[in-house]
Amino acid sequence: MLPAAIDALTAELGRTGNASSLHAAGRAARRTVEESRERLAAALGAHPSEVVLTAGGTEADNLAVKGLFWARAAADPARRRILVSAVEHHAVLDPAHWLAASQGAEVVHLPVDREGRVDLASLATELRSSHERVALVSVMWANNEVGTVQPIAEVVALAGRYGIPVHADAVQAVGAVPVDFAASGLDALTLSGHKVGGPLGVAALLARRGLDLTPVLHGGGQERGVRSGTVDTPAARSFAVAVETAARARPDVAPRIAALRDDLVRRVRAAVPDAVLRGPDPLRPGAAPTDRLPGNAHLTFPGCEGDSLLFLLDSAGVQCSTGSACRAGVPQPSHVLLAMGVDEREARGALRFSLGHTSTAADVDALLDVLPEAVTRARAAGLASAAVAGRAARR
Ligand code: PLP
Repeated sequence: MLPAAIDALTAELGRTGNASSLHAAGRAARRTVEESRERLAAALGAHPSEVVLTAGGTEADNLAVKGLFWARAAADPARRRILVSAVEHHAVLDPAHWLAASQGAEVVHLPVDREGRVDLASLATELRSSHERVALVSVMWANNEVGTVQPIAEVVALAGRYGIPVHADAVQAVGAVPVDFAASGLDALTLSGHKVGGPLGVAALLARRGLDLTPVLHGGGQERGVRSGTVDTPAARSFAVAVETAARARPDVAPRIAALRDDLVRRVRAAVPDAVLRGPDPLRPGAAPTDRLPGNAHLTFPGCEGDSLLFLLDSAGVQCSTGSACRAGVPQPSHVLLAMGVDEREARGALRFSLGHTSTAADVDALLDVLPEAVTRARAAGLASAAVAGRAARR
């Protein structure tokens, strides 16, 4: 967490008062919540009334997808199609799939190119052929695995021709690339506290004024009736401080982190020449800094299991992630890589290195000190398990 966000959180934790109570402590908490809402709105180019506080990015994504689907289908039962990019986070994909399984929705996965960028021609074709049946479009601002920044302005322009609401999951984008809600033309946008140096368990959905959104949670009617539940005052204040600080620092922090990331990619390529960078190549001549999240480096290492590499690096003090989910104890290749055309075998060797505001050149050195040996050992383990599997298959 950013030090300023820790200070804001700890300053509030000792105070009592429910922001919905009428006594003095409640009114003080309400003031803190409303000031936080104003600060969030100002940092994100939104109006304070457009900020709906939630307890996480997953909840905000669920509210956007289900809330928009229900509201649109209630107004016009023919509107049952949900257009999502194939590389969405599960917090968007799974609510859409749940609506399909239980509420008669039809989910259309928009294809992406080899760098993970949504195919605008497919979106245009879908909208042209079935716009009167489309409830909403949801395309993430930036991908959490491969760091690809999506062409949100073009998506909004295409859907706008037919008056179809667009939601963007900007959990990875806020604080990393410029995000202005009003200028984006989006109808709804998700952001989350713990991705911007704020606390875990607090987030927001920015919902355009006048947007029809059916609540997922029913209860005390907080957050304009869209999201019931006592507002977490300390978290709201800390979240606002984090977003404000991250947005203000971004012009200095993002290029510094991007330069470290570029150094990391260059050195990994030199040390492991067959490693493949996935997502837009920041070292390609003409690459724009806004094509890819500054702190993201995602590579596949042929012949390695990502999980083996992850554990080898972890035991050497480097913490990274594979991006793949585990189902019934079996690692599954990432749906993002598969959608980008990476085959299952290659996708299994994926590792994502994330740099943040505390990352230093020494961190990159530390990774490169241990990576070559980890790759050699992960490859040897992969060959050994392939030999065992081969023997078992022949038996
Ligand atoms: N969307 C994206 C792109 C994410 O990266 C994440 C978290 O990693 C989420 C949604 C979920 O947010 P939260 O962890 O706040 O529920």
